[in-house]
Amino acid sequence: MKRVLVVDDDPGILAVASKRLQMEGVETFTAGDGAEGLRLLRQIRPDVVVLDLMMPKVHGFTLIQEIRADPMLSEMKIMVCSAKTYATDIDRVLQLGADRYLSKPYALQEFWETVAELLGDNRRLPFAVRFWGTRGSIAAPGPSTIKYGGNTACTEVRCDDQLLILDAGTGIRLLGLSLLAEFSRRPVKGHIFVGHTHWDHIQGFPFFAPVFMFGNEFTIYSLHGAEKPLEKIFRGQMDSDYFPVRLNDLKAKLTFCELESTVQLGAVEVSYVFLNHPGLAIGFRINFGERSVVYLSDHEPYWRLAPNRGRPNTMDQEIARFAEKADLLICEAQYTDEEYEQKKGWGHSTFLDALERAAEAQVKQLAIFHHDPSHDDAFLDGIANFCKNTIADRNYAFTCFLAQEGQSVDL
Ligand SMILES: [Zn+2]
Ligand SMILES: [Zn+2]
Repeated sequence: MKRVLVVDDDPGILAVASKRLQMEGVETFTAGDGAEGLRLLRQIRPDVVVLDLMMPKVHGFTLIQEIRADPMLSEMKIMVCSAKTYATDIDRVLQLGADRYLSKPYALQEFWETVAELLGDNRRLPFAVRFWGTRGSIAAPGPSTIKYGGNTACTEVRCDDQLLILDAGTGIRLLGLSLLAEFSRRPVKGHIFVGHTHWDHIQGFPFFAPVFMFGNEFTIYSLHGAEKPLEKIFRGQMDSDYFPVRLNDLKAKLTFCELESTVQLGAVEVSYVFLNHPGLAIGFRINFGERSVVYLSDHEPYWRLAPNRGRPNTMDQEIARFAEKADLLICEAQYTDEEYEQKKGWGHSTFLDALERAAEAQVKQLAIFHHDPSHDDAFLDGIANFCKNTIADRNYAFTCFLAQEGQSVDL
């Protein structure tokens, strides 16, 4: 991980600059004056130090001289950000050995691009999604569901070296085996985000092999249940009436986190939105730098249940805003419009609902997910065609596919 030290006596600048650097996956340190800056940069030896000039205790000019006089710090890049824009000052800074000069106030994008250039870091960090279970309601294995898959909801998201898992349906069993093979003897650490605790979203958890091993660590995030705490719900499904191993007997370190606000995991930010589904359900948005994945499963449009089926519906608009401009929207859709009439109030969308939601949110790519257990591969191929034709007829600007078990998407 690249390291950047920001030295500035303005706490507001330290806060916004370090937040932006963290969003880009940079390990960030801050110092509020020149003396502290000098101490820290000798201690941590960052790849880039970002300096103000007019600082208490040690002036920026002195700091640059100290760095350039120290052979141990010869690799360090220096970027000066100052409100002093006299040509003589800028010349002086560069003569003393600074690599770049940026005048304040600066735009955060320009700030980041300058730091990235100094880091020699033009690469995009890996950001990928892999589907391990795409089925809704109940697993539906068999010869007629081989293409789209029979396992229930589980999606792996990798943001550089962070492992996130969306839902713990039966697909998580296969993910567990894959992780053990990949990590070999190294510990597996991950964050499991559960949209809601219906069977098809948690039932694979007791079969997730990494939780049976010491040294592994997982945090499980969702809401406090309607009646029970999150941990109690997970404990309940492993009660001896249902399963031979108790939650307490699992060897991995497990932490249950009932969400109250956005979660920041290094450079990754995960926020949530309430969905329209029987009981409590939430969808997630994962922001990683400029890129994002939104996961909305399970959800029935509010307008469909409103007394007059009036549109636009402000609650639906809020969901579209949550998903706005996502690089990938993973969205549930379980029925055709005809099938829906028999399934109204079950908490799911039609295929057309998902397309309209993606269009309203102006996403780049839509993955339809949570396939109905009664829909075989041939039927879903037909739905994929229906989606393609609808997108063409309506001139929608996004691409769409039906998620398949084992499929990966790079973002
Ligand atoms: Zn479901
Ligand atoms: Zn459900």
